[in-house]
Order: sequence, then structure tokens, then C-alpha cells
Amino acid sequence: MGVPAFVVTALARSRTARRIVTMLLAGVTILILVALAPLAIIPMALAGTSLTAPAAAVGTGPVPAVSGDWGYPVAGDYFKGRGFGYNPVGGCSYCSTDHQGYDMSQGCGSSIYAAGTGTVITAGAFSGWGNTVRIDHGGGLVTLYGHMQWGSLRVSVGDAVIAGTAVGAEGNTGRSFGCHLHYEIQRAGIAIDPEPFMAALGLPLK
Ligand SMILES: [Zn+2]
Repeated sequence: MGVPAFVVTALARSRTARRIVTMLLAGVTILILVALAPLAIIPMALAGTSLTAPAAAVGTGPVPAVSGDWGYPVAGDYFKGRGFGYNPVGGCSYCSTDHQGYDMSQGCGSSIYAAGTGTVITAGAFSGWGNTVRIDHGGGLVTLYGHMQWGSLRVSVGDAVIAGTAVGAEGNTGRSFGCHLHYEIQRAGIAIDPEPFMAALGLPLK
């Protein structure tokens, strides 16, 4: 006795129906995953934007890489701005053309750190560098951190610091053309190129 044709048809239909439902479910699942993906990115974005709140966030993020007594003045990746030497800024008449430091940026409000052991000799407005920290490392060596946000400094003149001590937040004060850190190194009062200096310490810049 054969299976009635209408049963076969019904089974086939139901199989087809099941396939359709399965495909629909898969489709819906993919759509939901695609829709939720940005939600997973939002916390990361929030973590990033928290750095723009200077007063509370300075020094609360990841710490900079350190080699011996020295470290980077910022934690993690950064955008390279102007290097040392002749570097005019297009559209900025007041910016220096002979650049005395190395510009790096992670965005307004990101934390700036002391690069080495020393004593703070400047903490505040400092000529064209705006809100500035200078650290005397001894032996005639001074590092300078320029253009930080007003009100963001975490150190005062006379403070002892080490590599990784948070000093302030990236800003756009003084003769600056957008938020960045002007990182300057002086030996005997003369600015030297930070790139070979840092490279020799095992802390190559970009
Ligand atoms: Zn600069």
C-alpha cells in the first residue's frame, strides 16, 4: 500500500516550509547581529571619549611604555604631527617654522606623562607653548610638554616625577593649531631632535 500522494506533498511542503523558516531565521539572526554590532563598539567609543574629560581622566587610562628610566610621553598609539626642524604649518601664520620639538596627538584631553625621572621646573603658562610642564632631568637635560589644556596639570613646580607620572591633558593652548602635545627635549638649553634621542633609549618615535 503506497503512501497517499497528498501526504508526500504535505511532507515536501513542510520540508520546504522548514527550509524557508530556517533560512528566514538565519537571515533574521544575521540582521540582529549586524544591528547589535555598533552597540559593541559604543563602549569602546565611550572609553575613548572619556579621555576628553580632562579634570577626572588624566592618568587614569593605560600607562605609557617604559624603557629603563624613560618612557613615552603618551600611552599607546598616537598620530605623529610635525617632526623636528624646518616644518611650516600650512594656514598657521603664528606657528613656528623651525620646529623645536616633536608633535604627537591622541585627541584633546588625552593624558600626557613625564618621560623620565626629574623635577618639575615649569607648570603653567609658558610663552608660546601655552599651558606647559618642563622637567629637569639633571645633567642639563630638560623635557617640555606644551599646549596642554588649561586646568589639566597634575604636577607643580618642585614635584619629583618619574617616567609615567601623569602631568596633564593634551590641549590646544599657546601658539597651537589643533590639540596636540609639543614634546621638546633640551640639552644645555638647546632643543635637540627627540627622535634619535628617544630611539637611543629604546623608545623609537614614529
Ligand atoms: Zn610642536
